[in-house]
Amino acid sequence: MAETSTALLDLRGVRKSFRTPERHERTVLEGVDFRLEEGEIVALLGKSGSGKSTLLRIMAGLIPANGGEVLYRGKAMTGPAKGISMVFQSFALFPWLTVQENVELGLEAAGVSVAEREERANAVIELIGLGGYESAYPKELSGGMRQRVGFARALVMRPDVLLLDEPFSALDVLTSETLREDLVDLWEERKIPTKGILLVSHNIEEAVSIADRVLVFSSDPGRVRAEIRVGLPRPRDTESAAFRQIVDEVYTLMTAHVRGGGAGMAEQLTLGYRLPDTTPGKLAGLLETIAEPPFSGRADLPQLAEETELDDDTLFHLFEGLRVLGLARIAAGDIFLTPAGKLFVEADDAQRKEMFAESLVKNIPLAAHIRRVLDERKDHRAPENRFLQELEDYLTGSEAERVLETAITWGRYAEIFDYDYNSGVLMLPEDVVEEMEADEEKTAEE
Ligand code: ADP
Ligand code: MG
Repeated sequence: MAETSTALLDLRGVRKSFRTPERHERTVLEGVDFRLEEGEIVALLGKSGSGKSTLLRIMAGLIPANGGEVLYRGKAMTGPAKGISMVFQSFALFPWLTVQENVELGLEAAGVSVAEREERANAVIELIGLGGYESAYPKELSGGMRQRVGFARALVMRPDVLLLDEPFSALDVLTSETLREDLVDLWEERKIPTKGILLVSHNIEEAVSIADRVLVFSSDPGRVRAEIRVGLPRPRDTESAAFRQIVDEVYTLMTAHVRGGGAGMAEQLTLGYRLPDTTPGKLAGLLETIAEPPFSGRADLPQLAEETELDDDTLFHLFEGLRVLGLARIAAGDIFLTPAGKLFVEADDAQRKEMFAESLVKNIPLAAHIRRVLDERKDHRAPENRFLQELEDYLTGSEAERVLETAITWGRYAEIFDYDYNSGVLMLPEDVVEEMEADEEKTAEE
């Protein structure tokens, strides 16, 4: 096979599962197909917990896949690949080492001579805009400068492939834009020997401003669900119509729901459905924002993101919550209120709670299940561990806890059950129990 026809990275049908502490298998990645070609930057967008970091670690050879093939330049990956470097969200710099020493670390481990180490580190430090800070310590640097050290540490290895795991997301907007632009310049002007970059991001604009292709990753299990080619020259004008159009497209794809059949079909959620990490108060707040001008019931997603100043991850949890509760729908890059959503916005607090309760029991199996168990138990109480154990058939321990906590927050707001934080016991609300007892007495008398 000719060298040129070989992808930098080629993943075919990759599967990865982890064992939970209870020894259940949980599949995080399933059937992942992905190619990184020479000369391209690819961005990977997906919800948190969908397995993006796991996928990157597999690509870097840091952890093995359980199934499928992982090829680097046509050869099966057997361990950490020389030629592939990673940059993480926050770089663990060694606080007792200077910038220069931090940058040289990897070279030292690779057995590069002192003189060459110094020369290469100096060149990279200059390149990435850290000139003059060689002997500074990490604590003397701003977040943005520290992340530059992170990049320098990866670039000094002269990587063939650069894997970036949300490297800009811990930085403020301006700092992240500057660093992003600097990286694009280095790439465009071929000042780095890197042949391909994969960027994991949870920021749609960031992905569209950098990448040749944007991939949308799905969760449970994670796999590449859709691809959009950007095809605009870099650096890109983020205000141009062409750019906005692609951002819109990506938003639509990100929110398009594929599980449970085609569009418009009612989906069947399971007990293990990952309730979006948000609260009834925030859901109501977003509904109100959409209901009010300038949106008046229908909002362009990127515009809504701008208006609310919420990051994409937070917004997607909110969208998902409104969607599963039947309060809003998404189509063609817009989110709009359903009739139920409109009623909700107009309702008073008590009515809102009732509507929420009805929707929870109807749409969220976990909420319905908890309520059923409490209804059926003689004392109308159940320890949370009972539900945690059930959830752990679907989710890892910490996620099971997170999902149950969310269900409890939602259920308490809707007053379909109550929870005692001290004992970790779920119970029916007192007035519901009183009502039930009154009913029972009546039936007994009859
Ligand atoms: P993302 O980067 O998309 O947020 P991750 O790849 O970090 O997602 O995690 C995907 C899922 O895999 C999560 O449910 C996480 O809890 C789980 N996971 C990741 N690493 C491990 C591990 N070493 N052991 C068990 N579960 C893990
Ligand atoms: Mg991650």
